[in-house]
Amino acid sequence: MTDAPRRPVPHPTPETQPYWDACKRHELSIPYCLSCKEHFFYPRRFCPRCFGWDIEWRTVSGRGKLYTYSIQYRPQAPGFQPPYVTAIVQLDEGPRLMTNLVGVEPDPEKIRCDMPVEVDFLELTDEISLPVFKPAGS
Ligand SMILES: [Zn+2]
Repeated sequence: MTDAPRRPVPHPTPETQPYWDACKRHELSIPYCLSCKEHFFYPRRFCPRCFGWDIEWRTVSGRGKLYTYSIQYRPQAPGFQPPYVTAIVQLDEGPRLMTNLVGVEPDPEKIRCDMPVEVDFLELTDEISLPVFKPAGS
């Protein structure tokens, strides 16, 4: 047990529960529209392109590219230890998601947009594993 403040923990909703269940298994799973034949993110009960309800959850590769990032020098909430990197990753399957970049120095000399990244999981609690991304192959 530590007295260090914990970072905020996501609260699954009915729309996001399958996402968090997959993260717990260390799989990245996102919704897929059977009409558009494309993935989308964030989780919704209907497709944001065609507004159809014919969707299913599919496990994706966990690979993508760093779309953009920012180095945080001041903590946004207790439990964060700056400097750290907030990032938007574009998955190989198309959708972008907001995350943290880990496994690399928070230094603009070491990070570049379009660098290949892959998912990793941070165990926040017994129930919540948070997807983060690290340089591919690291
Ligand atoms: Zn659709």
